[in-house]
Amino acid sequence: MCDVMNKKLFFGLVGIFVIVYTLLYTTYYYKNNKQDTSPVNEPTEDIIYREIDDYEDIVSTLQYKNYSTTEINNILGKLSDTNIKKLIELPYQDIKDYVDITNFNIDNIKRYESYKTLNPDLEIKNVVTKVNLNLDKEFYSNHEDITNPEEITVLVNKFHKLSSDYEPSDLTSLSYSSAYKMRKPAAESFDKLQAYAITQGVSFYPYSAYRSYKTQDIIYNRYVKIDGVNKADTYSARPGYSEHQTGLAVDIRSTGYNELISKHYSWLKDNSYKYGFIIRYTKDNENITGYQEEPWHLRYIGIDHATKVHDLNITYDEYYDLYLTEY
Ligand SMILES: [Zn+2]
Repeated sequence: MCDVMNKKLFFGLVGIFVIVYTLLYTTYYYKNNKQDTSPVNEPTEDIIYREIDDYEDIVSTLQYKNYSTTEINNILGKLSDTNIKKLIELPYQDIKDYVDITNFNIDNIKRYESYKTLNPDLEIKNVVTKVNLNLDKEFYSNHEDITNPEEITVLVNKFHKLSSDYEPSDLTSLSYSSAYKMRKPAAESFDKLQAYAITQGVSFYPYSAYRSYKTQDIIYNRYVKIDGVNKADTYSARPGYSEHQTGLAVDIRSTGYNELISKHYSWLKDNSYKYGFIIRYTKDNENITGYQEEPWHLRYIGIDHATKVHDLNITYDEYYDLYLTEY
């Protein structure tokens, strides 16, 4: 009786052992076989994790498009969400030159390549900024309508156009004369700048501030009649493209142009930013702004931004692309 029980127990244990062994072997075999037949699967440990919607789909799409692990880690580690989402919709792109460039915009990748071919000596980060500023195109082509005209930082240039009916809501007279108006914060800052300048022995006064679309239209077309379109475009903005329509720009005069250049220009360059103003059109940047030097044209952007533009010594166009645009 006891022997029978022992035998039953023995065979029972053998049976359980065989079943467990078979299960373990099958699992092991299946796992190995699966790896052999499907190289593209879930993210492996070599690939960094990133908090982004559809992370796993993004990784497998990149693997499927033959991006290497290093490239995938660069994409996940350095590109913006927007760029990544656009990148996975495109065929394979070689992005190694761009991953460390903060204002890289994948929409422009073909244009960067063409511009680099035409300008082989230009550093790639400068290629990116110039193309983002549309400098691979003719001025006044490829223009965009401005959607944030009331923002103090609004960018108005030969590619960014204000609507013909835009008029600032807080126009305020300058202390000097009610004939000149600017947006309230700009007007208050200009009054302070002018008063401070006088204490430093520097005197200037406004001779043009806010101008409506209609006024700009009259002024520009008067210049076109005198000098023709090409010449007029180098010193006068077409209607809709003038910073004066924002109420954030002011032209100043001293006793004369020469005095503004020789006596006051360096003072204005070193001090106007403390009151939120920059000299918008400088001599070395005519190819970026599309305007000849205008030592008299001040643009209000607020003290923080004006200080940065002054310290970086770049145009507002470049600053806007590098620091105020999200790609
Ligand atoms: Zn001006």
